Amino acid sequence: MTPKAPAPAAPPVSPTLAADLREAVTSGRTRSAAWRRAQLDGLTRMLTQNLSLWERALATDLGKSADETHVSEVALVLDEARHARANVGRWMRAKPVVAPLSLQPALAHVRPEPLGVALIIAPWNYPLQLQLAPVVGALAAGDAVVMKPSELAPATAQLLAELAPAYLDERAVRVVTGGADVASALLAQRWDHIFYTGGERVGRIVAHAAAEHLTPTVLELGGACPVWVDRTADLAIAARRIVWAKLLNAGQTCVAPNHVFVDASVRDALVAELRAAIAEQHPEPRTSPDYGRMVSQAHLERVAERLGDGTAIVGGDVDAADRYVAPTLLGDVALDAPAVTEETFGPILPIVPLAGVDAFVALQRERPKPLALYAFGDRSVLDRLERVTTSGAFGRNVAVAHIMVRGLPFGGVGASGHGAYHGRRSFDLFSHAKAVLAKPTHPETLALVFPPITDGKREV
Ligand code: NAD
Repeated sequence: MTPKAPAPAAPPVSPTLAADLREAVTSGRTRSAAWRRAQLDGLTRMLTQNLSLWERALATDLGKSADETHVSEVALVLDEARHARANVGRWMRAKPVVAPLSLQPALAHVRPEPLGVALIIAPWNYPLQLQLAPVVGALAAGDAVVMKPSELAPATAQLLAELAPAYLDERAVRVVTGGADVASALLAQRWDHIFYTGGERVGRIVAHAAAEHLTPTVLELGGACPVWVDRTADLAIAARRIVWAKLLNAGQTCVAPNHVFVDASVRDALVAELRAAIAEQHPEPRTSPDYGRMVSQAHLERVAERLGDGTAIVGGDVDAADRYVAPTLLGDVALDAPAVTEETFGPILPIVPLAGVDAFVALQRERPKPLALYAFGDRSVLDRLERVTTSGAFGRNVAVAHIMVRGLPFGGVGASGHGAYHGRRSFDLFSHAKAVLAKPTHPETLALVFPPITDGKREV
C-alpha cells in the first residue's frame, strides 16, 4: 500500500465566503433552468472526462479498484445528475393548489425557490459519491454550494478542488479542503442549508452550529446496521449477499451489515455458508484488487480492537503496514460487546445466535434506530419485521442494494440521522416550497370577514 501523501496545508477560510456566494443566488444568477442544467452538465463532464484521475485518487485513498470506483462512486452520481437534468424544468415549475370556496375567486400555487447557499460536508468512505450526490440536488434547486470533502481522503479532496473551478460556476460553487479546523470555521458562518454526512459525534457539533443561525440541516449519520437471519432463510443466498454487502469498500460503508443475529438453530449452517461465500468472493484478499484497505492507521487500530470482542472463526489477520484487515467472522461475541453495539466500519462481522425472531425484535426495540436493517427469511417473517421494526431502510433478503434505487429515500431515523435524499427528494431538500396566494382586487369578497362582523355577514 503506497503511503498517503500529506494533504497540502489548507488556505484560510474567507470569513465572508457564505455571504459572497449568497450574492450569486440573490442576484438571480443561479435561478434559470439554463444555469442549473449547465452546472449539472459541468459536474457530469468533470467525472466522465477525468475517470482515470478519479480512479487513481480513490485507489490511493482507499485501495478501491477501478470497478468499485465506477459502481459505488461515479455511476450513482452520473445517474442522479442525468435524472435531475432531465426533470429540473418540471420540478422548478409552480404547482397549482385549490383554494377553498370561502376565498374564491383566488389562485394558489407552490413555487419552489432556491434556499440560498448550501454547505455540504462529506466523509471519507465514499468521498466522491457522498460529496457530489447531494450537490446534484443543490445545483438543481438553484443554490450556491460550498463542498467540504474529508481530509481523510486527501487525494480525492485535492482532485475535486483542482477540477471543480474548470467545470462549475466559480461565482456559486466552491470546494474548501481541510480538516476539523476548516469545518469549524465554515460552520461559524450563516448558511441556508447544511448537509452533513459522517459520524454521530460530529453530527451533534454540526447541529449545534446550525441552531445558532436556525439553519435547516440534513444529518446522514452512522450505521451499525443489524442483520437478522431467520431459520426460514435460504442460507446460501443470505450468506453470499451478506458477504458482498459487508466486504464492499472493506466494510467501510455506512449501510454495511454491522453484525448478524441468527436463529441459534441455524447458526452453524450459516457460518459454513458465510465461510464458503468469503472464499468464493475473496479467495486471495491480500493480493486481490477487489479488496480494499482501511482508510488510515488510526482507523485500522480502532477496527482491529474489535477482534478482541470475540474469537475469529474466519480471518482475523491484520497487517498494519498495508492497512489490511482480513475478511473476518467473529464468534463468541457478547450482546453488549462494542462489536455489536457500535459501528465497526471494517470487515469484521460478529455472528450472534438468538433464541428466535421474537428475541431479535425485543432487542431492536431497546437499541438506537439504525440506518438500515436487513432480514433474511420467508415472507411472513419479513412482513412482520417490516412492520414492527424501525430503521432508515429495510432490506428483505438483500443488503445495501437499496441505495441503487433512485426513487427510494436515502437517510436515517433517530440516531442514524434525519432528512433523506436521492432523485426528486434531493431537489425538494434544497428548495423552499413558497406558498403563494393571489386574489383579484374585484370583486372584494374578503370584505365579508372584515370587522365589524354584522349579522348579515355571519349568515353568509
Ligand atoms: P470524517 O472523519 O471524514 O468526518 C466527516 C466530515 O466531518 C469531514 O469532512 C470532517 O472534516 C468533518 N469534521 C470532522 N471533525 C469535525 C468537527 N469537529 N467539526 C466539524 N466538522 C468536522 O468521517 P467520519 O465521521 O469518520 O465518517 C464515518 C461515519 O460516517 C460513519 O459513522 C458512517 O456510518 C457515517 N456515514 C454515514 C453515511 C450516511 O449516508 N448516513 C454515509 C457514509 C458515512
